[in-house]
Amino acid sequence: MRHRIAVVGSGPAGLTFARVLHRYDHPVTVLERDPAPDTRPPGGTLDLQEGLGQRALDKAGLLADFQALSRPEGQAMRILDTAGTVLRDWQPRPDDRANPEIDRGQLRDLLLGPLDVQWGRGVTQVVPGTRDGVLVHFADGRQETFDLVVGADGAWSRIRPAVSPVTPHYTGVTYVETSLDRVDTRHPDLARLIGDGSMAVYGVNRALVAQRNSGGHVKVYAQFRAPLDWHTNLDLADVEAVRSSLLALFDGWTAPVLDLLCHGTAFVHRPLYVLPVSHTWTHIPGVTLLGDAAHLMPPLGAGANLAMLEGAELAESIATGPEDLDEIVRAFEEQMWARAGRWAKITTAGLERLVSSNPAEALAVFDQVQPS
Ligand SMILES: Cc1cc2nc3c(=O)[nH]c(=O)nc-3n(C[C@H](O)[C@H](O)[C@H](O)COP(=O)(O)OP(=O)(O)OC[C@H]3O[C@@H](n4cnc5c(N)ncnc54)[C@H](O)[C@@H]3O)c2cc1C
Repeated sequence: MRHRIAVVGSGPAGLTFARVLHRYDHPVTVLERDPAPDTRPPGGTLDLQEGLGQRALDKAGLLADFQALSRPEGQAMRILDTAGTVLRDWQPRPDDRANPEIDRGQLRDLLLGPLDVQWGRGVTQVVPGTRDGVLVHFADGRQETFDLVVGADGAWSRIRPAVSPVTPHYTGVTYVETSLDRVDTRHPDLARLIGDGSMAVYGVNRALVAQRNSGGHVKVYAQFRAPLDWHTNLDLADVEAVRSSLLALFDGWTAPVLDLLCHGTAFVHRPLYVLPVSHTWTHIPGVTLLGDAAHLMPPLGAGANLAMLEGAELAESIATGPEDLDEIVRAFEEQMWARAGRWAKITTAGLERLVSSNPAEALAVFDQVQPS
């Protein structure tokens, strides 16, 4: 029996879900608010772990394509102190495929492939339990019904209120993101400082992290503990004012490191929000959540990986599992909550230690997770 299934959101969760259903020839409606795939910059690089994101791509039949596109050398990680002394310099072995990096735009295009996404279809609300199924309300006033609506619509999910009253809260840590282009030719000193993958400098309650994407593009994240209204006297659209404010915040750090903040032509403000560590809900037939909509957590390498694996697992169960859709979704939710809860604990503790009053804690975190 073919169920009427809609997934809301075309991020890593929604696209992986749809792509695995597509692999099994199961119809799925993909509803995305953005009017086109390239409406917004796709964001930085993602490392996809062997047991999580890569497993999901395998279920979608896309692992070989991923391996061709991804950057194993991007697993390199360097840590400096605020004086510029290199404290750690990990290089991956040539055959290391544990966590290769891929640009988000490349991953999106890989997952999109033959999918027929309905762009420009923002959902405002879902109402489960109507006579014809789950009623979906769209921003343009239209309505449609489905047997199952999967909310893969990220941190500020419009589907979540149908199952849970919980909303994200601020962690106390803010990221301000900027970018460097053609770093190898335009900023060779910074290119050498960053290396082939990521570079991080940890100070007291703040950090500067730079990550290579493909094509010489680098994302730089200024990370710091601050109240949510830290920018009250700052115009966030004024690039030079934000730059001066960040340089003041990182005052005293060595000039070659601060140079990371001196060339970007835009700054993106990203206060970090999370859902409670073990966010669950009373099962509601016809509606479920995946990815950030279900378990928004600090961005420490797990969110997209979990989102993709959840999408793949739920799709695979729908395509190959028992007839009873509700039974499938219930079992899926139990599995998702247990795994995501474990990762939420790890990433929450990780953020506490990485942006902390004791920079030695940050180093200890990396010593625990990096192979020696
Ligand atoms: C700086 C940073 C670095 C990160 N690095 C990593 C990393 O290295 N590895 C990792 O695993 N994770 C990382 N993450 C986390 C990762 O980005 C998220 O966990 C992941 O994107 C979640 O995927 P998702 O599909 O659940 O949601 P999203 O990626 O947020 O996708 C949601 C989609 O839903 C659409 N949408 C939203 N509302 C509606 C609506 N009402 N109607 C229709 N469509 C809607 C949005 O337009 C979007 O396309 C990082 C996050 C940040 C901020």
